[in-house]
Amino acid sequence: MGNLTQEQLAHLQQILNQREQELRADMRRETAQKADFRDVASEAPDPGDSSFASLEVDLENAAVGRDINELRAIEAARKRMEKGTYGTCIECETEIPYERLLVQPTAERCLPDQDMYEKTHMDATRGATL
Ligand SMILES: [Zn+2]
Repeated sequence: MGNLTQEQLAHLQQILNQREQELRADMRRETAQKADFRDVASEAPDPGDSSFASLEVDLENAAVGRDINELRAIEAARKRMEKGTYGTCIECETEIPYERLLVQPTAERCLPDQDMYEKTHMDATRGATL
């Protein structure tokens, strides 16, 4: 890694730690809500109500899934910090600017490569829904 100072790395690490704590708190809340909802759903005598309940649970699972993905990204960012590859684009190996890492500390790609990746990814999703 070339462009990041020890101070900048320490600061980014702090952002990652803070984000991780927020995510874990989120997940605890979502899991607690889900448990409450399951109680309500099991009491519902109307089959229409219970299918609505399972839809809600799916949506909450999706939210927890997003949190888990972000936690994995944070974990991966920490591993890259340990290996000394943090802040380097995994596609073209250019250095990711500190300003970008401040906004997106889990970024693995430079901005042009991230744009490219998202475009490719979105095309794949669109293709699947057609
Ligand atoms: Zn790149």
